[in-house]
Amino acid sequence: MEFVNVIVDISHEKLDRIFQYRVPPELKGRIRIGMQVNFPFGTGNRPMKGYVVGGADVPDYPSEKIKALTGIVPGSVPAESQLIALAAWMKETYGSTMNQALKTVLPVKQRIRQRQERKIVLTANRETAQCLLEECRRKHYRAKERLLEALLESREGHLDYDRSVKELKITSSVLQGFQEAGVLRVESSTRYRNPLEGRFSKQPRTIVLNQAQRLAADGIWNSYKKEGGRTYLLHGVTGSGKTEVYMELIDRVIREKKQAIVLIPEIALTFQTVGRFYERFGERVSVMHSRLSDGERYDQYLRAREGKIDVMIGPRSALFTPFLHIGIIIIDEEHESSYKSENVPRYDARETAIQRAGMCGAFVVLGSATPSTDSYYRARSGEYGYYRLHERIGEASLPQVPVVDLREELRAGNRSIFSRKLREAMEDRLRKHQQIMLFLNRRGLAGFVSCRSCGKAIRCPHCDVALSLHGDGRLRCHYCGYETEMPKVCPSCGSPYISGFRAGTQQIEREVQKVFPGARVLRMDYDTTRSKESYEKILTAFGKGQADVLVGTQMIVKGHDFPGVTLVGVLAADLSLYASDYRASERTFQLLTQAVGRAGRRDLPGEAVIQTYVPDHYSIQAASRQDYEGFYEQEILYRTLLGYPPVYSMLGIYLSCREEELLEEQAEKLGAYIRDLDVPGVSVIGPAKAALAKKNDIYRRVIYLKHQSEGTLLKIKQKLEKETEQETVWEEVHIQYDWNPLNVY
Ligand code: ADP
Ligand code: ZN
Ligand code: ZN
Repeated sequence: MEFVNVIVDISHEKLDRIFQYRVPPELKGRIRIGMQVNFPFGTGNRPMKGYVVGGADVPDYPSEKIKALTGIVPGSVPAESQLIALAAWMKETYGSTMNQALKTVLPVKQRIRQRQERKIVLTANRETAQCLLEECRRKHYRAKERLLEALLESREGHLDYDRSVKELKITSSVLQGFQEAGVLRVESSTRYRNPLEGRFSKQPRTIVLNQAQRLAADGIWNSYKKEGGRTYLLHGVTGSGKTEVYMELIDRVIREKKQAIVLIPEIALTFQTVGRFYERFGERVSVMHSRLSDGERYDQYLRAREGKIDVMIGPRSALFTPFLHIGIIIIDEEHESSYKSENVPRYDARETAIQRAGMCGAFVVLGSATPSTDSYYRARSGEYGYYRLHERIGEASLPQVPVVDLREELRAGNRSIFSRKLREAMEDRLRKHQQIMLFLNRRGLAGFVSCRSCGKAIRCPHCDVALSLHGDGRLRCHYCGYETEMPKVCPSCGSPYISGFRAGTQQIEREVQKVFPGARVLRMDYDTTRSKESYEKILTAFGKGQADVLVGTQMIVKGHDFPGVTLVGVLAADLSLYASDYRASERTFQLLTQAVGRAGRRDLPGEAVIQTYVPDHYSIQAASRQDYEGFYEQEILYRTLLGYPPVYSMLGIYLSCREEELLEEQAEKLGAYIRDLDVPGVSVIGPAKAALAKKNDIYRRVIYLKHQSEGTLLKIKQKLEKETEQETVWEEVHIQYDWNPLNVY
């Protein structure tokens, strides 16, 4: 590195200004991204400090104009440097400006006033204080007497400043007199807000790991000790004790004076889990999430930086906790889509965690009952270590899972939301006063069209994903832009019953009340959970048995343990199959497996009824058997045949512009440019109109690239970035990059 790019002061919101300096001979080979360095700045050559955010061998300016660095700021590499280095990696990998990347990893630098806490501390020994008290009594110094009495009586040897001044009516001159005489001291300290304080008990249950848990914990730990920071996949059904394994590993990490980050998909849904961490690790645990106030969030950032906590729990942004010595990063429910950012830089928290762990020798544990095809593929290839917990803790047996064919129901004249089988089962549970969950799978409802007689959805002949029905009555593929007229009858079986699906949770709630008039029903969906505590309220009420039936979307199938539930009804199991992207089957399998796993967790045996139009689909069959490997074998075959991730790498290039013509022209040009590069093995799909072809008056187009090697696509992306940096037209047409896109754009 001959030259370095530095940013001067990240606290002044001047994040986007980058300055270039020369690396002098004495510093050659020692400069790394993220380091804090000294240099002369501005016309007056003021000495300044800044962070290295990049390097170059060729300068961007005439080299005689570039000043030299003066030194490296001594001391350990602070947490912020690590985060800046991470931002530099994110910028390169995911494509964004340095500014956007820095804003992602560093919190808003706006200063939020700390709460100060002042206390009066007795510094004289008790005997001296006692003598002094008697003297004050003799001399009738009442205020001094009251203060000394209170101090001597206080158990901790100190008093709260504000309260004492008010209640004991003490003036500052009294305090000052004593302070000068060395009797007491006024101390002030920052009071941090701890969002968990007082919400849980601190009574850890003593749990002895079972054999499978011990094998996993010891296996991971020994491998980490031997080989350093690696990534491990902990695969175990819900209730198999993964969380206990996480806590065991965290315990060992803390003993080595290192810290832990625990990512969870959605804090409101995993409240019970947070409680378990707090019970075990107490005040040294904190959470970071969007429902905290700015002040609370900033405090957690400071507490972490100052070494006041060891464990940070939160959604993907908690990955950027400024810990200095991270030992472990855990990603629970690693298959969840919330780990992928939908904002630029569109980072994947799993990859970014692995990168951050690599920077400080930490290890990463990915946990899931239904690992993403991606992670399982890497575990199979040996890239990740792999540990499996096969059994649920305790007696809990796997539920019975009948699959009901809705086409049969239609043929038998049953047009109700409930199949005959589900209805019978519901009657039975209500009679026995056991609880029921009804899960409406509404994921990926993007206007697909399917046949109610044969169950087939209309698919793209080129991409094998469901086509979407648009406002103009035409069906479109969201990857390649293929279009066709909406047919009048099913292309497979000729039935006229083809349509989208339109039942909502509210409708189901009403139907339950109609069919089972006495049943108490709770509903959980985006409408009923808008306010801050509503998730918890609904779940707590249901947990306490205040309702017989809980109706909801995917949020009810995640992370909660309801021992009273013995029946789960899955309505419209196949809806998520028609999401118009290549992960549709994977998501369906995950959702159904999770839903089924909610049934019968303790002493009562459970049952889950899956209602579907495509009972033979492998994702539904495998979910009903709780057969992960069976699902994976089919799925990886499909990904291989069609060249989708993880077998191939896929890069989405999203273009947007206010002017449609200009957009089309530029999209075509870019597409042609990529094709002209003629990189062997790269397939270029598009340009095509985006799924959302226009949003807020801005037109959108997409190009997808596929190749077996991610490195090849990364090189193409860097070429494109260079190319588009130089032409001003790209200021009007915006480009975003998205690796292995989760949702269609
Ligand atoms: P997961 O994270 O895989 O869903 P948990 O760690 O939450 O599983 O475990 C499920 C339940 O079993 C929890 O209530 C937990 O306290 C309990 N549990 C876990 N491991 C043990 C063990 N070794 N002995 C007794 N109870 C356990
Ligand atoms: Zn049909
Ligand atoms: Zn297509």
